[in-house]
Amino acid sequence: MHKHHSALGLATTLSTAAGGFEIAKHGPVQPVTLIRPHAASRAARFFVEKFPGRAMYAVKANPSPGLLKVLWESGITHYDVASIAEVRLVSRTLPGATLCFMHPVKAEEAIEEAYFTHGVRVFSLDSIEELEKIVRATRSAPDLTLCVRLRVSSEHSKLSLASKFGAAPGETKALLFAARQAADALGICFHVGSQAMTPEAYANAMERVRAAIVDAAVTVDVIDVGGGFPSTYPGMEPPPLDRYFETIHRAFESLPVSYSSELWCEPGRALCAEYSSLVVRVERRRGDELYINDGAYGALFDAAHIGWRFPVELLREPDSRAKLMEFSFYGPTCDDMDHMAGPFMLPADVRAGDYIEIGMLGAYGCAMRTAFNGFGSDETVIVSDEPMASLYTGEEREVASNVVTL
Ligand SMILES: *Cc1c(COP(=O)(O)O)cnc(C)c1O
Repeated sequence: MHKHHSALGLATTLSTAAGGFEIAKHGPVQPVTLIRPHAASRAARFFVEKFPGRAMYAVKANPSPGLLKVLWESGITHYDVASIAEVRLVSRTLPGATLCFMHPVKAEEAIEEAYFTHGVRVFSLDSIEELEKIVRATRSAPDLTLCVRLRVSSEHSKLSLASKFGAAPGETKALLFAARQAADALGICFHVGSQAMTPEAYANAMERVRAAIVDAAVTVDVIDVGGGFPSTYPGMEPPPLDRYFETIHRAFESLPVSYSSELWCEPGRALCAEYSSLVVRVERRRGDELYINDGAYGALFDAAHIGWRFPVELLREPDSRAKLMEFSFYGPTCDDMDHMAGPFMLPADVRAGDYIEIGMLGAYGCAMRTAFNGFGSDETVIVSDEPMASLYTGEEREVASNVVTL
């Protein structure tokens, strides 16, 4: 996996694309984001068709309006937003969308604007203080869906979300009870952590949900299993998503909730990881270290700060025949921390002036970009070839077929 050699096809296609974007001959000086609407659309349709409930999109993973529109057109009608800026963005971009404000610690002004200006009715909370805030800000609205966020284990996930949010077992009963009084519909939500590598993560969390419902003896109308659905990266190839859905469905069916209760999920990463990749240029080689023109302060935050490994591919014509070896990357800023350990597997003869595609950056890639030190770029190109890996085709990418410039 991730070692296919369609670099030649891709470079050739890019350099001959009508009207435009030439990578091999006089290529871009700035990093370029490649976007693949068809891949996001495929992911959305997969969730819409196969998840045994409602699939929302967690906007923070990638808030680009182009992606929001693709998801909407592919059947995603509900959006998990976490800030008033995300509320405004989605309201503006998708006027028909339903918004769910799922950050458990919100500004009171944000709740008020969300409720009265943007029609938001679903809010999450993990404390009595937040519940009181929501009731005050909405002037005791009678039509709220309130989702109590439980703290669950992140042990099966690559990125923990277990310490910051979520009611602990000792606090849950009183909170569910109080939320039930204030809510038209009562929900329970959780987040197992991002990139959950096994469906067990959800089964275990659902046991926590069961205990909370039994303990509080309240009627629950919504179970929201949150995000955490994985994508695929080097060394992090998860089981098929159908297995996650089956496990969640089974656990949901056995919960003590009314027959009319709803099952929701809030994937971020799984819906957008395949949506984009990045083309960077090698500015210098020093042994097995490559100085590239994007990094920790650009779309590669996770590669730098949490050692995430992304698939890479040399875009050179003619294709290199050298053996693959391990490289690490330095980003363009003057900062030592702008370093990505990888290892990233590339042909041993990679050199300054080469272009590299870094794949699977649709989630938490572009969304994290800054302009620190004067680096970074918004140049974007739509491509219709396959992403370097996919959870939705079970296949690796074939030779690129078509490129459209924006
Ligand atoms: C970040 C987040 C998500 C999305 O998580 P992924 O791991 O990207 O699927 C969903 N819900 C909440 C509340 C979040 O904070």
